[in-house]
Amino acid sequence: VAPPLTVVGCYAHPDDETWSVSGSMALLAARGVRCAVWTATRGEAGQITPATGVPPERLGEVREAEERAALALVGVHEVEFGDFRDGAVADADQAELVRAIGSFLRRLRPDVVVTMERGGNTGHPDHMAVSRATEVAFTAYLAEGPDGERPREPRLYQEGVPRSKLAQLRGLATQVGLEFPDEDQPYAPKSAPDELFSCHVDVSSVAELRLRALLEHRTQLAVGTYQLVVSHPEEVRWWLGTESYIRIHPAPRPAERPEASLIEAFAP
Ligand SMILES: [Zn+2]
Repeated sequence: VAPPLTVVGCYAHPDDETWSVSGSMALLAARGVRCAVWTATRGEAGQITPATGVPPERLGEVREAEERAALALVGVHEVEFGDFRDGAVADADQAELVRAIGSFLRRLRPDVVVTMERGGNTGHPDHMAVSRATEVAFTAYLAEGPDGERPREPRLYQEGVPRSKLAQLRGLATQVGLEFPDEDQPYAPKSAPDELFSCHVDVSSVAELRLRALLEHRTQLAVGTYQLVVSHPEEVRWWLGTESYIRIHPAPRPAERPEASLIEAFAP
């Protein structure tokens, strides 16, 4: 009997996973797929929504708890944290970052690995470092070849925002009078060309759950795109209703039909 399908996410900060893969994981966990998330830092250098009253020295532990609560809502209970410093992941020893992700992959033996696209969704150096390191660790994990614990060839996906979808979100923000920074601004949401995306998952049935998972990140609710989610939950539901991925391995064949699930290759 083959071991259960396993899907893991590798990210830099608590909440990256909720924005990125929470809808897909909600659907997969409900189908009995084992899902787990590794996060390089505890987000201890992030902003703090003043109303939460969280002192800066406690932010790391609070954000770890926020991520665990958000993931528990979507049915994901295996959550691990690295000991990298928030804001300094790109400056850390990159071989050590690859080793940490590699050891997570070897323990979990995933069939599907997800991280952010190479541009890090916002250009955040921590995001880009984890995306790069995940590709390197995945390549080594893939090279180990199949065995009894991992009989299937693993696949690597990078989550991102198609250019056309970001344009729609910008339109919505403008319409409701919220400022939405241009893509070239530091840490602004960034898109990738539509044609790179080879997997679009309809997660509309769990969009409400995703919204609630995002709201678990209480210390972050005054920051960036959260403002739109908090102030216009109805209007952003369509945004939360799809997740888009670029498949890195195996690379899509020419004219391949887009996938509709991260496990389509294993359980159509
Ligand atoms: Zn982040």
